[in-house]
Amino acid sequence: MARAMGVAAVLGCAEATRKITDGQTVIVDGEKGKAITSPNRATVKLYEAVMEKREMVKKTWAAASTARLMRGEGKRILVAANVGTLDEAREARKLGADGIGLFRTEFLFMDRREMPDEEEQYRVYAETATLYGDDPVVIRTLDIGGDKPLTYLKMPKEENPFLGVRAIRLCLQHPEVFKPHLRALLRAAAKGNLHIMFPMICSATDLERANALVEECKAELTAEKTAFNPECPVGIMVETPAAVVLAESLAKKVDFFSIGTNDLMQYTTALDRGNAALSEFVDPLHPAVLEMIRYTIAAAHTAGIWCGMCGEMAGDPKAIATLAEFGLDEFSVNPGMIAATKARLLTVAGITAG
Ligand code: PEP
Ligand code: MG
Repeated sequence: MARAMGVAAVLGCAEATRKITDGQTVIVDGEKGKAITSPNRATVKLYEAVMEKREMVKKTWAAASTARLMRGEGKRILVAANVGTLDEAREARKLGADGIGLFRTEFLFMDRREMPDEEEQYRVYAETATLYGDDPVVIRTLDIGGDKPLTYLKMPKEENPFLGVRAIRLCLQHPEVFKPHLRALLRAAAKGNLHIMFPMICSATDLERANALVEECKAELTAEKTAFNPECPVGIMVETPAAVVLAESLAKKVDFFSIGTNDLMQYTTALDRGNAALSEFVDPLHPAVLEMIRYTIAAAHTAGIWCGMCGEMAGDPKAIATLAEFGLDEFSVNPGMIAATKARLLTVAGITAG
């Protein structure tokens, strides 16, 4: 959220809210990952200079925000946005988003007493699709469970929620939630270039079960004579090691991949993504994960589909050049990082503003 708002943030400052008092000066250095309380004059001066330099760099990035990026051989690279609301989708457009690479639908379902019905969902998805016209809008189906519970849905307490009834698993167990969601998406897909994306796919069976419900919804909409897009592209997030290992066969069954490095990292390296005590063990460019990414992109291209990335790594300045060399087709980042990501991509050999 902090990234999306363009605000510096440092995690894992134990007891900060107890130790820091109202009115106390604190420098939050998001780049170095430290917070300095009651800094002396020299430190304040130093950071003022850092901020000034950063503002200047930001201005040069802003110039890149509207660029259409092309690879040498004439293939477009998209820099899309990760959003959770229609307002964020609007904001992202202003910041130069070439599309939406990840719409986290769960925000529409959280912090309320009852589930949004098909109509309410339809309006949000349709408006987003309309806003982006021919540009792709990838809407991820509900990723509830794990760290995101719903008060109005009976969800038993789990020992290991991240390995539990989460995302597509929860949707497959609750067709009364999943079907109105899919119907709203299929209907909204008639308004623009909307793509449906399933999270946490671990096997062909997960995908087949989800697709069967999509087909059921299409049959219902046809029978009711309700407008929808029968050709709506359907893809998956590659965010579990199982999906990577099966990438070659899964790629033949979907229209696109989007790599979710946040979960792929935690499930591959066995490091809980929300546990600040583990930060010293986290390597944002872990070689095992990089190899999985290279392999997944190659598998997608062999099958003739595109491969994007919507995990945090897509906006990591240290990763962007490597991901571009692997052939990543779409970088989906927080809206505040679109300009910086485009600017960074333009420094990679063979990528130009077309
Ligand atoms: C991911 O896992 O990389 C991802 C983009 O999804 P989320 O962060 O919502 O789990
Ligand atoms: Mg995820």
